[in-house]
Amino acid sequence: MGWHQAVKISITRKAYQEETQFLRQPSSIFRAVIILFQPIAACFPQIAVAVKCFVKQSVELLIYTSMESTQTVPSARQTTIPLDAPCRLNPLLNRITELAPDTDSEGEFPESAFSQLADAGLLAITLPGHDLDFTQGQTARLLQLLKRIGSANLAVGRVYEGHINALYLIHRYATPEQQATWHADACQHRRLFSVWNTQAEDGIRIDESNGLYRLTGAKTFCSGASWVHRPLITGHLQADSRNGWQMAIVPTERVRKIRQDERFWQPLGMRASASFKLDFTGVEVTESDLLGQPGDYLRQPYFSGGAIRFAAVQLGGAEAIFQATRSFLMAMNRIDDLLQQTRLAEMAYLIESGNQWLQAAGDKTDQWLTQGTDWTTIVGYANMTRTAIEEICLRVMPLAERCVGARGLLRPNPFERLHRDLTLYLRQPAPDATLVDIGKYVLTNLQPANELWS
Ligand SMILES: Cc1cc2nc3c(=O)[nH]c(=O)nc-3n(C[C@H](O)[C@H](O)[C@H](O)COP(=O)(O)OP(=O)(O)OC[C@H]3O[C@@H](n4cnc5c(N)ncnc54)[C@H](O)[C@@H]3O)c2cc1C
Repeated sequence: MGWHQAVKISITRKAYQEETQFLRQPSSIFRAVIILFQPIAACFPQIAVAVKCFVKQSVELLIYTSMESTQTVPSARQTTIPLDAPCRLNPLLNRITELAPDTDSEGEFPESAFSQLADAGLLAITLPGHDLDFTQGQTARLLQLLKRIGSANLAVGRVYEGHINALYLIHRYATPEQQATWHADACQHRRLFSVWNTQAEDGIRIDESNGLYRLTGAKTFCSGASWVHRPLITGHLQADSRNGWQMAIVPTERVRKIRQDERFWQPLGMRASASFKLDFTGVEVTESDLLGQPGDYLRQPYFSGGAIRFAAVQLGGAEAIFQATRSFLMAMNRIDDLLQQTRLAEMAYLIESGNQWLQAAGDKTDQWLTQGTDWTTIVGYANMTRTAIEEICLRVMPLAERCVGARGLLRPNPFERLHRDLTLYLRQPAPDATLVDIGKYVLTNLQPANELWS
């Protein structure tokens, strides 16, 4: 996207803000209706909330529809869901939640969920001029979104996090021309991105030959597999001028067929993430498909600091379990029992402490990046966030199991799937090394305890 397009989007956004002012400062007719409505609202609060939500949705729809007719930038059309309007976001997430059991088998992928995320503009939400524009430092809000999507379906959350991670790496390392191409891919062509770094012994080599770059080897845990149109892969580049761990974004429709090993994916949970093994041998990419320089992918604090994003998705899994446990106990009429109450209490404060980790990690990351704080501090805090959230999730699961008992763990109750998914998704790279690094940090940075993370 060029600068002139970004300006047009920001002008349209300003128009939207001005148009929505009247919701906050109602005209006299509106005021009269509201005054008449108030006594009814006081008597029937639930009906009042529903009416308010309906009116707000209708007005927003009207505004966005009128915006579309004046829009010259197709990308802006997609950002139709204001994140801070629960009455727009919740129905979308509820639909994704309802669809989750349908794709809980090997070989399935939540296509419908991604098509709905694309319709809602959420594939482009971090691009310039959009709601969570990376340049505006809104990490805490992004983490909340990732958590909410993870809560609807952990597999969707995993794949969506990979998409956002790729867009972040593009934001950091792509040239302006590359950004224009890849932003259009996400925004106009609704193409899904991913980051596939994990590999086994037969990992990727990138060899330069006659101006082309030929890939040899495979990646494991390729979430989204062939449903991803723009996988960001890493591999060892060997070229005349450069060597090292190189990123490339593969334009899948323009290269030879990438062989897919589905037998690799026989997992405990997260079946719908379709994290197959993919063999890139024989695939050729060009210079313009290479992203950044060798070593950029591993550059800190961005590499390890990104762990707060998967931690956010994981916390979404714990929130889904909490939500389902509460509904189950209510349906069983078991909410007056003291032990059930104490278990729910513990789950509630654990999850809320996870929310506070996300808020602090998001805010501090933005602040520290702006201030140029030493990267080890940013990574140290991210390491603590992911470790704390892992512990929270590991504690929430047995509490829920005890609440619902064996009967609750039978399908079609959701617990069986939610537990399998969260158990697997909690297994992220190098948990031991992460904990050790936190220990090293606090043993070598000898500020007073209350100043360690301020
Ligand atoms: C659902 C799902 C989707 C995924 N999607 C993607 C994706 O899209 N892209 C991607 O790149 N990756 C993806 N991954 C992979 C993920 O990022 C991690 O790399 C992977 O989960 C780590 O695997 P592991 O637990 O087997 O690792 P391991 O490194 O084998 O860790 C297992 C245990 O061994 C310990 N350990 C590690 N090294 C050593 C050692 N040298 N000696 C002794 N102990 C050691 C660890 O601390 C840990 O306790 C996905 C994973 C999952 C579960």
